[in-house]
Amino acid sequence: MNKIEHIGIAVKDIEASNKIFTDVLGVAPYKSEAVESEGVITSFFQAGPNKIELLQATNENSAIAKFLEKNKEGIHHIAFDVSDIQTEIDRLIGLGYKMIHEKPKDGADGKIIAFLHPKDSNGVLIELCQDKPKEA
Ligand code: ZN
Repeated sequence: MNKIEHIGIAVKDIEASNKIFTDVLGVAPYKSEAVESEGVITSFFQAGPNKIELLQATNENSAIAKFLEKNKEGIHHIAFDVSDIQTEIDRLIGLGYKMIHEKPKDGADGKIIAFLHPKDSNGVLIELCQDKPKEA
């Protein structure tokens, strides 16, 4: 694990939350991106060395919509930057952890990502991410 890549925050109204985080952090989001496969719209803020990802659901089947049925708006996941995501996935599977994604998938902001199954991390949602390899 190299560092915390970002912290993901589930929000109901991304426009309202963009304003709050712009006010608090003193910077506007540097990117807004829809991830259709996940049913989310995201905004990314860079605050010094740290990155915050806001996530709003775009449909009721989205994991973010389901999270917000059970929880208040707030921290949804923590993402760790790794150099070789498949090696980390295989290492964790070898240790007996269940992965939501056994193969990395495309995520937002130029990353490939994989989530651990929260059942094996006592409900804490953990994402691994790696910079998307450059197309050859
Ligand atoms: Zn994330």
